[in-house]
Amino acid sequence: MEKERSPKADVLEIFSSVQGEGPFVGIKQIFIKFAACNVTCKFCDLERNLPPKEFSIEKLLSVVKQICVNSGDHHSMSLTGGEPLLYKNFLKDFLPRIKKEHKDLKVYLETNSTLVHSLKEIIDFVDIIAMDFKLPTSTGTKDYWKEHKEFLSVARKKNCFVKVVITNETRESDIKKAVNVICGIDKDLLLVLQPVWPVRNIERAKTSLLFDYLFLAERRLNNVRIMPQMHKVLRVR
Ligand code: SF4
Repeated sequence: MEKERSPKADVLEIFSSVQGEGPFVGIKQIFIKFAACNVTCKFCDLERNLPPKEFSIEKLLSVVKQICVNSGDHHSMSLTGGEPLLYKNFLKDFLPRIKKEHKDLKVYLETNSTLVHSLKEIIDFVDIIAMDFKLPTSTGTKDYWKEHKEFLSVARKKNCFVKVVITNETRESDIKKAVNVICGIDKDLLLVLQPVWPVRNIERAKTSLLFDYLFLAERRLNNVRIMPQMHKVLRVR
């Protein structure tokens, strides 16, 4: 009988640092940066020139263990990228092992919120979900409102929040649509307005625009914050 091939994942980097986005800013995490993504945001800062390395489950477990030996306890392990849910077959085997071997390490999923079927397959092993809503006027991509709505309806059973990136191109209509989706599920959910970090030809978002969108979102949501990417302010990974 042919032996079943164990799943592997393409990973760009694994490191210890602090979370720089959203309500968990400053907490110590182990970051696993998966290589592939199914979206192409124009402000993406993924280091696409780094060659990914292929990891087996055993190899990744051993790197995580070594990071814990070298850098001590961590609050959580951030699955980021790229889009981690593209590696759901790998995660289905990897996450139960992490939960068994590192009982106090929470699993924090950073996702572009487009792959709800994959989320359903691993959600039992995830503690915190940092969801991006991809605003087409920010990202320059097609819209994903249907996908985001379905995703949030599943993700809400965990500790989750929504983040949108604001650029000078972001239109009010997209903020209204994001607020509508969140309101339809739970108006107490946190919405983070994150000013884009200037990259290539994309400029810093105007402060006045951030406040306009804060006031707009606050009319219908109970928990809206403007939060920049603190890891970039601190110049850490
Ligand atoms: S979803 Fe994230 S990783 Fe993918 S292109 Fe957009 S910013 Fe980059």
